[in-house]
Amino acid sequence: MTAVRLADYRPAPYLLGRTDLTVRLWADHAEVEAELAFSPNPAAAEQGPAPLKLAGIDLTLEALAIDGRPLDPAHYTLERDGLILHQPPQSPFVLHSRVRLHPHSNTTLEGLYVSGGLFTTQCEAEGFRRITFHPDRPDLLSRFRVRIEAEQASCPVLLCNGNCLETGVLERGRHYAIWDDPFPKPSYLFALVAGVLEEAREPFETASGRPVQLRLHVEPGDLPFTTHAMTSLKRAMRWDEERYGLEYDLDEYNIVAVRHFNMGAMENKSLNIFNSKLVLADSETATDGELERIESVIAHEYFHNWTGNRITCRDWFQLSLKEGLTVFRDQSFTADLHGASLNRIENVGLLRNTQFREDAGPTAHPVQPDAYEVIDNFYTTTIYEKGSEVIRMLHTLLGEKTFMNGMALYVSRHDGSAATCDDFVQAMDDAAREAWSGRPAAFDFGQFRRWYHQAGTPVLQIQRHWNGERGELTLHIQQHTPATPCQPHKQPLVIPLAMGLVGQGGEALPLHAAQARQLPPQWGHHSQLVVIDQAETELRFTGLPQQHHPPALSLLRQFSAPVKLELGRPVAELVHLLAHDSDPVARWDAGQLLLRRGILARSQGEPDQQLEEELADAFARILADPSLSQASRAMLLSLPGQAELEDAASNGDLSPDPPALFAAAQALRRHLGEVLEEPLLQLLEACEPQWTAIWPQGQGDRRLTGLIWSWRAAAADAGVIDQARQAVDGPSMTLARLGLSALQCHDLPQRQAASDAFFARWQHKPVILDTWFALEAAAPFGDGLARVQRLLEHPRYDPNAPNSVRAVLGGLAGNAPVFHAPGGAGYRFMAEQIAALDQRNPITASRLAKVLSRWRSYGSERSDQMRAALEHLDSCKLSTNTREMVELSLSQ
Ligand SMILES: [Zn+2]
Repeated sequence: MTAVRLADYRPAPYLLGRTDLTVRLWADHAEVEAELAFSPNPAAAEQGPAPLKLAGIDLTLEALAIDGRPLDPAHYTLERDGLILHQPPQSPFVLHSRVRLHPHSNTTLEGLYVSGGLFTTQCEAEGFRRITFHPDRPDLLSRFRVRIEAEQASCPVLLCNGNCLETGVLERGRHYAIWDDPFPKPSYLFALVAGVLEEAREPFETASGRPVQLRLHVEPGDLPFTTHAMTSLKRAMRWDEERYGLEYDLDEYNIVAVRHFNMGAMENKSLNIFNSKLVLADSETATDGELERIESVIAHEYFHNWTGNRITCRDWFQLSLKEGLTVFRDQSFTADLHGASLNRIENVGLLRNTQFREDAGPTAHPVQPDAYEVIDNFYTTTIYEKGSEVIRMLHTLLGEKTFMNGMALYVSRHDGSAATCDDFVQAMDDAAREAWSGRPAAFDFGQFRRWYHQAGTPVLQIQRHWNGERGELTLHIQQHTPATPCQPHKQPLVIPLAMGLVGQGGEALPLHAAQARQLPPQWGHHSQLVVIDQAETELRFTGLPQQHHPPALSLLRQFSAPVKLELGRPVAELVHLLAHDSDPVARWDAGQLLLRRGILARSQGEPDQQLEEELADAFARILADPSLSQASRAMLLSLPGQAELEDAASNGDLSPDPPALFAAAQALRRHLGEVLEEPLLQLLEACEPQWTAIWPQGQGDRRLTGLIWSWRAAAADAGVIDQARQAVDGPSMTLARLGLSALQCHDLPQRQAASDAFFARWQHKPVILDTWFALEAAAPFGDGLARVQRLLEHPRYDPNAPNSVRAVLGGLAGNAPVFHAPGGAGYRFMAEQIAALDQRNPITASRLAKVLSRWRSYGSERSDQMRAALEHLDSCKLSTNTREMVELSLSQ
């Protein structure tokens, strides 16, 4: 395999003015005629005359002509992955081609394929080359006009990007539609859908008065489940106008729900295609979390209309330009709608359990990678979530006003073009210069750019010296970023560190230091921002109360940077912060640290009784604190995720024991469920009246109910176990799923009854049944692998639906006692499944292969077994996608 390198980027030799397609859909194949209007690119003139390479995969070429004259076979070469024109004209010309392809047997779900009788497309990143011969590179923006022809009975609805210009009837029961997209776009944003669909339609008027038709297309019978998605879309459109001043720009906006889809959703210009699980929902069929996620994904794809479509990426190394920025925008949207702190805490949890793990393994890569073999493997949490954290740090460092000025500058400079991450940072840099004019720069933008190029999670090691007689606190801060593959040495980054001090009575103490800047009140009382940009920094705070003990140190408020902290804060200090920190994120994090310590101690067979007592007391006070919402209580008491625990357990020579950590977390749940019985049961009663309130009302009460159920079920509370079992039959999907989760780890007749009842109720709804598959695959008892095998052979299991595959195999990977069981059978089983899946769907297979990549992180026995499973996979016939992932994992 050959790597693609950022350093090798060259402008395309030919610009592409127009892409005109005629797509004829038939019962067993499709035919695509393309007219591509090329002209020599002045920006590439110095490269001299060059052959023109067009990408094309699994296409049968039937005709090829230039300016109407058929091309002599001596003038081109057809290769496995494309077509080379040896001597293209040095003046503008039109290339005409006709190809035949087979969407019905395309199980890769890239390019044009059929899902449940529906023709649909997925072109990002490189799927368009499976539709026609084309340069298929993101920096070539062309105007698309598309004519679709199909049988009227099986494909009454014909959709494409842009505006529909014309429809009409053809002979032999066929019909056509012509679509024109006035906005030039790269080929990865092309989309086409044809089939039997029902439509929900609502009008929208933009701030400047443009009427827009919002149309949501779903399979027949699914219309009742579209209200939430439609409402979410309108909210997102209004929010982007109000916060960013960005309006929609076409007459219609289409969303189509598709069952077989490799990702969550795709932002194709004016024709978004969604995984149906991210469209279809109401409170009976979706949980609170799913409703919020649907709202945020609808918003995310809509926001791409500006950050992604109007301004696109020059090349795939710039993927985070659109993804990091758009994730930041959708997170801000959810924070504005549902509360900033809870949203932040959820996102920090996600980052720690996924991106930090990626950063510490063989697939670690920077937000802007400098080489790849298969771009599909780079749709990672680093590109998305860490990319968003980098944007958030800019927002923190610059403040809202300057950040928004930078955004406006970015949009005005690059609208209608393909840009780079550097272009974005440059716009922010220029906005900052203007804001700082006459004052020293708050930080160095050149150094900040390292966040884009350095992989790995930075660590801040902090030592503190307290002079109680003078009321003076000194912090000695060292930053370092661990080595990652191909990057042994790292340079210091610009790290915004938000902090505060909490006095003995729980009050926020004003801070005075030369280097610090006061933050707005939403960061907690008396919060200060310090910019850490050296390998070693010393901070001195004076004028603090003269007392024996130092004030409690609240660090990384709002999780101001995606870093890890190393600082030995005693249990009493963390308990104090858990009780009093005015920043909800730092407060939650203090509890997380205590929980992690408690679980680690238990996993090593030595429960820390004093810590657990103090923790239980602190939790009792939180449960009784009338100033807290139920949602905050649930958040503060939630246990850290398994990935985070494994990470915390791999300090020094220690390697994590996943089943032991899993069991320890469960044991701590049981213990806390026992000692806090009274306040938990009181709160459960208080939550009950809100159980059936319609989302977003009552979501905090339901969340806390789930936590109480799982703690009390762990403590074998017969009443709670009964309640959780019965929730499956009730009107709320949130409660049904919380009930199933609470019973999940216990091999009880009630668990089996709940699982059977859920299956019976939802067996005809694949979107919901995937949940059941995931829960069954993750059940941590009995013969887990045999159960997973039965699921894979289950008549309702659809091996061509990535959602189902991820439910079962992802469920197994998250099932620590079964996947990591001694002997390594779980690893071998997984490797065999991935090899088989890879034959059908390389994108889903290679993403799943990551679960075997961290073999070096475990103790020698597990490590050997996991490596053996990878080597077995390596010996199989693999796609380039999965091959890259396996080789990366083995080589580092
Ligand atoms: Zn996106």
